[in-house]
Amino acid sequence: MEYRATIGGKPASAGTEFSVINPATGEEVGRAPNMGQAELDAAVAVARAAFASWSARSDEALQAACAAVTAKIEEHAGELAEIVTLEQGKPLNGLGSRWEVGGAVAWAGYTTGLTLPVKVLQDNDEGRVELHRKPLGVVGSITPWNFPVMIAVWHILPALRTGNTVVVKPSPLTPLSTLRLVEIMNEVLPPGVVNVVTGDDKAFNLGAAMSAHPDIRKIVFTGSCATGQKVMQSAAATMKRLTLEMGGNDAGIVLPDADPEKIAEGLFWGAFINNGQTCAAMKRLYVHDSIHDAVCAALVAYAKNIPVGNGMDEASILGPIQNRMQFDKVARLVADARGRGRVLLGGEPGEGLFFPPTIVAGLRNGDPLVDEEQFGPALPVIRYSDVEEAIRLANDSPNGLGGSVWSSDIDAAKAVAGRLACGSVWINKHGAIQPNAPFGGVKASGLGVEFAEEGLAEYTDIQVVFA
Ligand code: NAD
Repeated sequence: MEYRATIGGKPASAGTEFSVINPATGEEVGRAPNMGQAELDAAVAVARAAFASWSARSDEALQAACAAVTAKIEEHAGELAEIVTLEQGKPLNGLGSRWEVGGAVAWAGYTTGLTLPVKVLQDNDEGRVELHRKPLGVVGSITPWNFPVMIAVWHILPALRTGNTVVVKPSPLTPLSTLRLVEIMNEVLPPGVVNVVTGDDKAFNLGAAMSAHPDIRKIVFTGSCATGQKVMQSAAATMKRLTLEMGGNDAGIVLPDADPEKIAEGLFWGAFINNGQTCAAMKRLYVHDSIHDAVCAALVAYAKNIPVGNGMDEASILGPIQNRMQFDKVARLVADARGRGRVLLGGEPGEGLFFPPTIVAGLRNGDPLVDEEQFGPALPVIRYSDVEEAIRLANDSPNGLGGSVWSSDIDAAKAVAGRLACGSVWINKHGAIQPNAPFGGVKASGLGVEFAEEGLAEYTDIQVVFA
């Protein structure tokens, strides 16, 4: 099936298309337009034209429009989830595509309800000083392939809510759900308010062109650290506002008083949600000597019963790795780790892009599976004997997205958590996010935050009025 883009409220195609492949079967799911500079310029121009009347809407009118968009996504949730499963690979079931699209609806609804009211900074005989939030103009959204619908909604809704117009560009690996999402949104939005462009990143890199585009005022980017840095460089010349959500290499620390049986399930999902292809998944686990073997045993016992298979099958709880490059990276890192530690579970690549949940003990910082963001279903377990050492090892990373501490003593866990250099830190869980809690990375993991008022404010410039 050929999917169309939506530009200025109308179906848009390009001279050529590219194929989108189902990672579970290797078959084509559909084709997306392979767009270039001309289509990008057209999308930015209509978004710019739509900005004048969209940004002039009252706050209530913007809110009502976002509520209508939210209702549309909800109405089409089942269809969007199926497209996500077909192109991304994650199961319909479990923490898969239905969960992702349900999350997108929840986020959209919550964002719709937020406001950034005028703040009165001073009001006395010397005068009145007010802080106003102004929309920026055209926002360019660049998304990755791991949560295509949820992340697009995280970018688009706050932009709309604050009076901006949008051009979104999905990953070439998962463009179809975004093409459909934008089509659905356009059923209730004026033409040009949300537009989508797609390309295969081969002859022409749309994301790079967006980052340099003179008529885009902000880029919100979710993706790898290397690409985020390129976005930042290209955006400098036009002083674009930036929100960059990049990679992580999150650590979990299990304290000696944790109960291995109780934490096994949480540890597993903290690491293996979406097959580990999650920015804030736990990618390194530090376990105290005294309970190391018990934690490994409980984790393996839980993990070995998780059904892995084609995501369209309701019985599947984990699917394939999304693409060949990612699969090869995980396979290389696991093969290397085999010579350094002990594979407790999995370790052997399966058919096609299937890779079983893999747990490797006996590794250390400095080993590639520990140091690199492997972004796959492989968890290295590292033994430690002193909590100070564990904190030092956890912080010994250029990234700082999330981290977790596992213990029966919440206060002891919080004391350790406070010393982790990361944007989110969890006790006895890993990776939980919610729309009223700002989310973002420190160090090389990003710039700025998403969600809540703090995230919404990033789609505005401040204007202070002195009267
Ligand atoms: P990626 O960086 O390869 O691609 C992300 C997007 O950038 C794609 O749409 C791609 O087409 C585009 N792009 C490619 N080259 C570009 C350029 N030169 N300029 C601008 N855009 C360009 O990332 P990916 O492989 O799709 O996604 C996986 C990465 O995303 C992981 O590192 C993961 O940690 C990260 N991620 C982070 C978060 C977060 O919130 N921090 C969430 C999800 C994923």
